[in-house]
Amino acid sequence: MEVNIISDTVTKPNKKMLEAMISAPLGDDVFGEDPTVNALEEKVQKMFGKEAAIFCPSGTMTNQIAIKLHTKSLDEMICDVDSHVYQAESAGFAFHSGISVHLLQGQYGKITADQVESAIKPGHDWQPLSRLVVLENSCNKGGGSYYTTSEIEPVKAVAKKHNLKMHLDGARLFNVLVETGESTESFGALFDSISICLSKGLGAPVGSVLTGDKAFIKEARRFRKVFGGGMRQAGILAAAGIYALDHHIHDLKTDNDRAKYIGAVLQTKSFVKSLKPVFTNIIIFTLEDSLPMETFLINLAEKGILATSFGYQTIRFVLHRDVTVEQFEYLSDVIKKL
Ligand SMILES: *Cc1c(COP(=O)(O)O)cnc(C)c1O
Repeated sequence: MEVNIISDTVTKPNKKMLEAMISAPLGDDVFGEDPTVNALEEKVQKMFGKEAAIFCPSGTMTNQIAIKLHTKSLDEMICDVDSHVYQAESAGFAFHSGISVHLLQGQYGKITADQVESAIKPGHDWQPLSRLVVLENSCNKGGGSYYTTSEIEPVKAVAKKHNLKMHLDGARLFNVLVETGESTESFGALFDSISICLSKGLGAPVGSVLTGDKAFIKEARRFRKVFGGGMRQAGILAAAGIYALDHHIHDLKTDNDRAKYIGAVLQTKSFVKSLKPVFTNIIIFTLEDSLPMETFLINLAEKGILATSFGYQTIRFVLHRDVTVEQFEYLSDVIKKL
């Protein structure tokens, strides 16, 4: 048996999603005439209580467009050192936007209002101007940890006081919402822009959506084009996104619960040196020096478990909807016997 827990991005469209895709009405979205893309954008905008939204090929693009629009060159954004916008977008903030970054060492990827306030520069000629706070929810490298809205409110108050914009990288926001029971609208109210990924645990093959106010999204359409992300009959992809939002959000709770179960098993293992608390569908742990990471991964691969390294002696497992009941039982069994 093979179980791929490298990422929740490995999820493939199921039969019903494929049916929704092939029957979607299509048009040319560069002209704004794909009815399915328009429907997806409207759906997301309404979910978050925003004025407009834009469908993009990736979460990197939605984040990069947001950073571009919230800043100008010589500005600075503030984020956690482990955030995706810093660690996993090839320094796009510098390349596309010509800005600097003030990195904060948060706890499990989460930064506080006090940290943000102390990072804000007074604006001398020789300093970059602090313009933007980027939060990530859930925090991928933090081990799937998450902010509740009450934790974000003080950060928002500091941002407001100093006239900073707030962007949310909500690639896995729905994994958080099924855990806390909080609403999309409550997050919409705290941020100038929000990016969500459809291609992670929600199970769509491609796509992310950025939502914000009308003027912001109008400009975002210009930058999506110049970044090369204007797609034509993109409704075939947007249909998968609509299907995922209608039918797959609830199932993310299973992914979170399964991750917690596997985390609890790993906790008992002597070869595990440290394990981040499991908050949602991501498990991050380090191995004792006596067990080289390569040996561990090869051993897993020989048993059909595909996982990936996530830094020095560090492993990440990600649970997702394409792990069947049988595969999950097998996975639990293999981990227990390690
Ligand atoms: C996956 C991910 C993104 C976007 O990645 P793409 O592969 O470009 O869609 C952004 N932020 C986080 C936290 C992610 O995990």
